[in-house]
Amino acid sequence: MPKTLIEPFRIKSIEPIRVTTRADREQLLAAAHLNVFLLHAEDVLIDWLTDSGTGAMSSRQWGAIMEGDESYAGARSFYRLEKVIQDITGMPHFVPTHQGRAAEKVLFSAVCKAGDVVPNNCHFDTTRGNLESMGVQALDLVAAVGLQPATLHPFKGNIDLERLEAVLRQDGARIPFGMLTVTNNTGGGQPVSMANIRACAALLKKHGKPFIMDVCRFAENAMFIKMREPGYENTSVKAIAQEMFSYADGATMSAKKDGMVNIGGFIVLRSDEWLDAVRSGLIMMEGFPTYGGMAGRDLEALAVGLEEGLDEDYLRYRLRTAEYLGERLDAAGVGFVKPTGGHAVYIDARTVLPDMPVAHYPAWALCNALYLEGGIRGVEIGSVMFGKRGDDGVETYHSMELVRLAFPRRMYTQSHFDYAAEVIAEVKQKAAHIRGVKITKQPKFLRHFTAQFDWA
Ligand SMILES: *Cc1c(COP(=O)(O)O)cnc(C)c1O
Repeated sequence: MPKTLIEPFRIKSIEPIRVTTRADREQLLAAAHLNVFLLHAEDVLIDWLTDSGTGAMSSRQWGAIMEGDESYAGARSFYRLEKVIQDITGMPHFVPTHQGRAAEKVLFSAVCKAGDVVPNNCHFDTTRGNLESMGVQALDLVAAVGLQPATLHPFKGNIDLERLEAVLRQDGARIPFGMLTVTNNTGGGQPVSMANIRACAALLKKHGKPFIMDVCRFAENAMFIKMREPGYENTSVKAIAQEMFSYADGATMSAKKDGMVNIGGFIVLRSDEWLDAVRSGLIMMEGFPTYGGMAGRDLEALAVGLEEGLDEDYLRYRLRTAEYLGERLDAAGVGFVKPTGGHAVYIDARTVLPDMPVAHYPAWALCNALYLEGGIRGVEIGSVMFGKRGDDGVETYHSMELVRLAFPRRMYTQSHFDYAAEVIAEVKQKAAHIRGVKITKQPKFLRHFTAQFDWA
């Protein structure tokens, strides 16, 4: 067998990208208040801001789009997708939403109240935002190894079961349900093992709490289980996914990830206990139960995408792509969360900027430097995203300063990755010239999306 792992698809339609100069980019970033979220996408050469809704759809998906049934009630497209989702998740109740955060909002509004506590391995930023804006505490209980970027471990997304048990004992009355995010996006795109999912489910059950999974990247998580967890080598990724879901009572999903579509999301529930409350909220916030927040054509694209996302050749290539960039970063002496996750590589900004004070937001500074040097857009996962300015003006900081380079699905080829590896190595060489930033304007929630900055 040849050693080169190829993209298991060929290109049918292309989208040109615009090359800019460093001088262009200096102006463009200044106009965007030093926040890459505020750049025009046209001004980005390699857009690794997110893997969310940014991937390429297949010819089969584009074909399915023409079959979308746009009926308001009872559309054929709903039933087609419902069948696919029931098959994968084993859960009877499927509630479509326009994306993952809407699924969260609809579910949380139905079952949480102020003063509650929701434990998770790590809450994603919209999950945290949705809970905190309702006065609910979003508690992160990822295993200690998940917070050590350089430590190798096959399942760094695992939840710390002892801490979970302690919280259930102590604060049980305030906990409406427990969560697990697979893969753990905030903690580095790291997978959760089947053993951990099973044990977490058992613990929650013992305390009478429902178990909700955030399953944005369930297919990547399942592939990691196949590659890394003894006993699953010969199980199909789909069967592994089905087993993961079998332990849960419900799930929220952003279909913009492993659903392989540009928009969409859903809630699934095993029992009908919460269903009336969830559907009432859905009708108010999203739409009628058979389309929720999606057009019929989007339901069709997702029905195909969920199956394509479980294709093992595709998943092997995808996980290998991240691993390959990791090898190039290792060679350049740039630290990153190890092993590489499914959808992204998380650069440890402290290995590039060890002396920059956290008050100058080193991961944000590195993110800006990657754009200025090579037109690459990543996202800061550090103290801008997860730090907070209290009412007293005092700032709290995050435990890690990461820059996430997230890879849209089926979009960039190996030469794009080679280019990026060169740019990152160059930035590391010039690290002494990278400038930190200060925040000049920020909103109260999810501040990284719209905050404005100046050089520190
Ligand atoms: C993307 C994401 C969400 C939110 O989904 P959107 O579709 O962006 O609203 C929630 N949880 C995780 C883990 C995610 O990666």
